[in-house]
Amino acid sequence: MNNGKICVSVCAETADEFNKQIERAEPLADFIELRFDCLKPDEMEKAAPSFRENYISTFRPKEQGGRREISLAEREDFWNSGNDFGGGDFEEDVVENHLYWLYHPVICSYHDFNGVPENLPEIYERIKNIPANIDVIKIAAHAEDITDTIAVWKLLERANAERESVKIKKLEQHKEFEKKLKTPLPAPEPFLEIIPIAMGEAGKWTRILGLAHGAFMTYAALETGSETAPGQISARDLIEVYRVKELNEETEIYGIVGGNTSYSMSPYIHNAAFKFHNLNAVFVPLQVKDLDGFMRRMVKTETREIELNFRGFAVTIPHKQNIVKHLDFIDETAREIGAVNTVKIDADGKFSGYNTDAPGFLEPLQNSLGDLQNAKIAVIGAGGASRAVCYALKKAGADVTVFARNPAKAEQLKADFGVQIEELSTAKSYRDFDVLVNATPLGTKGETENETPASASQIENVKLVYDLIYNPSETKLIKEAKKASVPTLGGLSMLVAQAAAQQKIWTSTDAPAKEMSATVLRRLAAK
Ligand code: NAP
Repeated sequence: MNNGKICVSVCAETADEFNKQIERAEPLADFIELRFDCLKPDEMEKAAPSFRENYISTFRPKEQGGRREISLAEREDFWNSGNDFGGGDFEEDVVENHLYWLYHPVICSYHDFNGVPENLPEIYERIKNIPANIDVIKIAAHAEDITDTIAVWKLLERANAERESVKIKKLEQHKEFEKKLKTPLPAPEPFLEIIPIAMGEAGKWTRILGLAHGAFMTYAALETGSETAPGQISARDLIEVYRVKELNEETEIYGIVGGNTSYSMSPYIHNAAFKFHNLNAVFVPLQVKDLDGFMRRMVKTETREIELNFRGFAVTIPHKQNIVKHLDFIDETAREIGAVNTVKIDADGKFSGYNTDAPGFLEPLQNSLGDLQNAKIAVIGAGGASRAVCYALKKAGADVTVFARNPAKAEQLKADFGVQIEELSTAKSYRDFDVLVNATPLGTKGETENETPASASQIENVKLVYDLIYNPSETKLIKEAKKASVPTLGGLSMLVAQAAAQQKIWTSTDAPAKEMSATVLRRLAAK
């Protein structure tokens, strides 16, 4: 266990809902942030919870990320009213010369929702030198790309390094205040703590790993969907999925490296496996635009600017090809497919690349049908997934025909793997095939959810329909197959099998497939 705390933000327009949220937050939170700026002005009086020392009041104006316009005079009144709810989260302009000594801890916060300012270290110094007895400096800035998070994380390294000198200064400051006010004051926190937050999807990892590296607290949403800042994670996920309080500096860090990680199921699947085996390892979203910058500035031992114990990545669109140039070794499957979806980082900093999409696709299929030698297989779609599918099927000795809406785009599959190509619109029936595979996004939750690449009548007599889509777990195509009494395989089986193969590469453990499937199903049902 580390010493970090989880603070759940409570934000509602009415006093009634505000108080209900406080109740729901209690069992999850070390601290509860009472966002008074969320309340309608006429609800402020009614929402006056009785004192709890784990409450932190916040009354933030719109320009600093608050929910409504609040004048300086209104804020000064709020902080000077003596509402003693526990801690207080002050902005720089109101922390000095207000009744901050009533509040414990005193947080002074800085927010930038547009980006990470270049002078972040100066901002930190500026707040540190405000003559108010500040216990915690919170700095939250929006990260567009993952490399923007470096400057934010460096604040944590800096604060950790200067704790002793700050302690002496704070005690001296404290004595001066007592002298000035001619009254004894509650003792300050001996250290100046820090909460560094990179906001946005690209900064999520800072919310997960902060506590393990000495951050005082991490902020959590009460529930998924009630986030009060970009990139905030629900308290339940922080506790149950990421186990943030159990992590430490030695924790092995794995993550999904992709252009958009917000829909990824990988953190749920892989953390379920780490938890099952009780490994000191965590899997985090790593939303990366600039792959070369990420590898150079955050990962590679010789050039990185911050110290994180990265041990492996799952790699997804659009980096599956570009990652290759960063590798010291690439296995045969990944080389022949021309795409890497798994990177293992050895203790000596060497990078090895693998592709688990191909074996992950094949395993459930072979479990259902056995030997695929000479099996006739129709694959709809000619993109990245289709490439791994064609490679795996040809290796298994199958006779593969790819149906593409744009056959010219599929020519490379013919050249590389010897598959046949047909135009999708000309496909009348798949009855001459043993298996039909959907490797297009048709049927995925959202816009094309009610679409299918093939109808029940086209599927009749096929031995198996394999839809790579896993969300929803029962797609329109699977429903059509059921109508035609054709057995089915859903994308979840591939998702779990390829993740299990990744776990084997990273940790040499046999992954708990049932646990991993159940986790994804629970998650999909909750969405
Ligand atoms: P991709 O590289 O974008 O390729 C998609 C392919 O589908 C392309 O050939 C595209 O044709 C075709 N396509 C798109 N919309 C179509 C439509 N309306 N009608 C006909 N064809 C259409 O994507 P991908 O990486 O191959 O992924 C494909 C699907 O597989 C995704 O839904 C993904 O979630 C799923 N997948 C699942 C797993 C798993 O573990 N279960 C793993 C990987 C992928 P054009 O080239 O003409 O655009």
